[in-house]
Amino acid sequence: MDHYSVLRERMVKDQIEARGVADKRVLEAMLSVPRHLFVPEDLRGSAYQDSPLPIGEGQTISQPYMVALMTELLHLKGDEKVLEVGTGSGYQAAVLSLLAAEVFTIEKNERLASKAAKRLKDMGFDNVYVIVGDGTLGLKEEAPFDGIIVTAGSPSIPQPLTEQLKIGGRLVIPVGPSGMQMLKLIVRMEDRFIEEEKGGCVFVPLVGKHGWKSGHRFAN
Ligand code: SAM
Repeated sequence: MDHYSVLRERMVKDQIEARGVADKRVLEAMLSVPRHLFVPEDLRGSAYQDSPLPIGEGQTISQPYMVALMTELLHLKGDEKVLEVGTGSGYQAAVLSLLAAEVFTIEKNERLASKAAKRLKDMGFDNVYVIVGDGTLGLKEEAPFDGIIVTAGSPSIPQPLTEQLKIGGRLVIPVGPSGMQMLKLIVRMEDRFIEEEKGGCVFVPLVGKHGWKSGHRFAN
């Protein structure tokens, strides 16, 4: 077993299983995606540590535990169509691609989007489609989705995203001010939405029409 596989096993056991993520498919996906290939080369040695890491353009790849927790909350079985908002490095999309049929991922930063698209293609994640744009609008032409995951912090729940959920579909999104958000799960029922709180988290801001405005000054 190579050095990175050993670090990955430890990450899954000590950071993810130990904190209660139990979905076997999620744990297997976290074991198999080479996270070190999604971070800048000089940070590869830190890729499996228990924290987010910078990926350039002022953005981050999320903490491994947060990726696993948010993925588990989507309850994926394998035949779903999923939307991610905030492609970043492409790591979360790669994890999702092993658990769902199709993954559409929107990134507002063109440079990050094109790097992530190339990386995902080179690594053979063929069921991931990277789109440049404002993910707070969702992706009407591909809706409805079984799952939507937002990997940036939003001031409120963008209405286009709840509208683009299937009945029974699940939306996972950090909501709240810039220093600290609440991870929320929204499930679309026939006639209403159920909302649950899943714990505190800290994400970079979701900037867009239904997110923060681009001129907004953030506390951190
Ligand atoms: N999921 C990513 C990964 O696995 O590397 C990490 C995402 S990073 C924490 C948040 C990303 O959301 C940034 O790349 C940022 O440019 C992007 N973002 C912020 N607002 C957005 C918007 N309205 N639409 C799409 N992407 C957005």
